[in-house]
Amino acid sequence: MRRKLIAGNWKMHKNVAEAVALVEELKSAVAGAPADALVAPPFTALAAVVGAARGSTVAVAAQNMHFEKEGAFTGEVSAAMLRDIGITHVILGHSERRQYFGETDEGVAKKTKVALASGLTPISCVGETFAEREAGRTMEVVGRELDAILDAVTADEAKRVVLAYEPVWAIGTGKVATPEQAQEVHAFIRSRIASRHGLPLADALRILYGGSVKPDNVKGLMALPDVDGALVGGASLKADSFLRLVHYDRP
Ligand code: PEP
Repeated sequence: MRRKLIAGNWKMHKNVAEAVALVEELKSAVAGAPADALVAPPFTALAAVVGAARGSTVAVAAQNMHFEKEGAFTGEVSAAMLRDIGITHVILGHSERRQYFGETDEGVAKKTKVALASGLTPISCVGETFAEREAGRTMEVVGRELDAILDAVTADEAKRVVLAYEPVWAIGTGKVATPEQAQEVHAFIRSRIASRHGLPLADALRILYGGSVKPDNVKGLMALPDVDGALVGGASLKADSFLRLVHYDRP
């Protein structure tokens, strides 16, 4: 059985005090939830949030990392540096990184490989733009992004990847994918993994949906057979809405 994961991507929001205050509110309130909870604060708040989350089940992720171990890469942070401060997960290849910072399929795949080798759990993102969906190219694009990641990792490593399907047109727009659209792509991703690595491995892997997940639509999404949680932006910035996602089974 795959346990659900609700991952909050705080993007470029919250100073250290605000980030710590939010995780303090989440800490005890996530107990007994049907989903694991994870938060991804900005780099400046990571160490403080790791400290604040200590002793709770809230996991802490970075929003990006570089694939090199160290060197002259101004402005970058390595996997080892994240591990050093107690980070366990890292979001990779978010569409905002692909769109605004030129991240490529190859770069995301490389980062996924390095994260795994460094003991971090990557949450690697794939997803089509609106124009690609309209052109009937959703599976082609998602398949290409997924294949780049799968080409880079061994079967053993693939087991430890968390994938996030995030249709770009649904991120921060209030336009959530319909249950049918989400399930179709999630099933496609799982079957593509199964065709490489077999059904047991594909069946064990967590595939999150991302794109305007809110308390009023989370229940329907979590009921889908191939949706194993959510990667959430806007609704993760306040304790009340984030907790309603983590406790999605509550009325
Ligand atoms: C995201 O940033 O990954 C995301 C899904 O954002 P939002 O929930 O705000 O659409």
